[in-house]
Amino acid sequence: MSKILIIGAGGVGKVVAYKCAQHPSIFSEIMLASRTKSKCDEIASEIQERLGRKISTAGVDAEDTPALVKLIKEFQPKLVLNVALPYQDLLIMDACLEAGVNYLDTANYEPKEEAKFEYKWQWDYEDRFKEKGLLAVLGCGFDPGVTGVYTAYAAKHHFDEIHYLDIIDCNAGDHGKAFATNFNPEINIREVTQKGKYWENGAWQITEPHEIHMPINYPNIGPKESYLIYHEELESLVKNFPTIKRARFWMTFGQEYLTHLRVIQNIGMARIDPIMYNGVEIVPIQFLKAVLPDPGSLGENYTGETSIGCRILGIKDGKPKTYYVWNNCKHQDAWDETRSQGVSYTTGVPAMIGAMMMLQGQWAGVGVKNVEEFNPDPFMDQLNLCGLPWEEVINGNLEMDYK
Ligand code: NDP
Repeated sequence: MSKILIIGAGGVGKVVAYKCAQHPSIFSEIMLASRTKSKCDEIASEIQERLGRKISTAGVDAEDTPALVKLIKEFQPKLVLNVALPYQDLLIMDACLEAGVNYLDTANYEPKEEAKFEYKWQWDYEDRFKEKGLLAVLGCGFDPGVTGVYTAYAAKHHFDEIHYLDIIDCNAGDHGKAFATNFNPEINIREVTQKGKYWENGAWQITEPHEIHMPINYPNIGPKESYLIYHEELESLVKNFPTIKRARFWMTFGQEYLTHLRVIQNIGMARIDPIMYNGVEIVPIQFLKAVLPDPGSLGENYTGETSIGCRILGIKDGKPKTYYVWNNCKHQDAWDETRSQGVSYTTGVPAMIGAMMMLQGQWAGVGVKNVEEFNPDPFMDQLNLCGLPWEEVINGNLEMDYK
């Protein structure tokens, strides 16, 4: 029986609130807090109506540390689950340290002024969390998140050494809009327009954006052109599994999406530096976010499914072995259960499971940790029970370009 404070009432925050509400024996009291309180209230009243569970709400700017500390001290949660934006990660970690509360998030810290993805800033909190006897779990969505747990599960049960890791992420859904992003547009566009990067033979290899691509066959979906992009879990996975020789991340994009993205960049709307407009300072990508469809609104007519998994080649008992583990999630199922689209769902469910692991003491310890550092087994069990069942193929043809 524990209280949880969820920060962020966007697409992901809504799913987290729903999923926590479904487990009253673990999450005895839930508070949803965000910058715009009315969004929290809307979600709370929907959950009250559909699940009969009361959630309290609060308006808070997570960048106002004293206000956040005050809220945490008043509510006294066991855990703060951060699904606001990556810009707030460090400030929310600061507030947790001051209030003496554990922390979990789904995306690594990014400075607003530079699209730079690395764990260093958050790993630097290790000693401070240890000194306070607190635990911070980083990157517990689907990717990062489940992909790290899948890798840990593969390492524990299937391999003596992992050599090649390919994380493959396909969204074969159709939301019927000419252009929309599936999670926060600002964060999404910053992520997919950066240079590609992957790990090979002990060093990071850099590519031009979307330079490397190939069709990959996704279960129940078929072949989809997939692009090598950098994704944050590669950094922690190559650190925590040092036998990895090559680690890459692939994501599917439709031609229409890429064309829009190219135009957005070419006309300067993806800029993250402030410009003056009519005497007011605006950041073009933030203005763009204001005119694009809200990712949270895509759910109702979203058809199709996502497929995200890990394809791994390694050694077991001196012999080469392959392993593929994945989940397919239908947007419509996510809508029926949580009035959300599949990408918010596949992120929010693992965040709730991570919180469950921490509150039940299955994931314990002090300091700052990535998900693959814990026992993957209870988490894998919960994925099957909480809406993201996984499948696996052992020693199948991975169809990847191994040299
Ligand atoms: P949204 O933009 O839909 O929601 C973000 C929420 O955070 C909004 O409610 C927003 O409030 C709130 N917020 C923003 N700034 C502040 C602040 N200063 N103080 C308090 N609240 C604030 O984003 P998503 O729900 O799509 O994504 C949430 C997080 O999940 C992001 O960090 C994203 O990177 C991560 N993510 C992780 C994935 C994974 O698999 N690991 C996949 C997808 C997303 P307001 O409404 O007022 O703007």
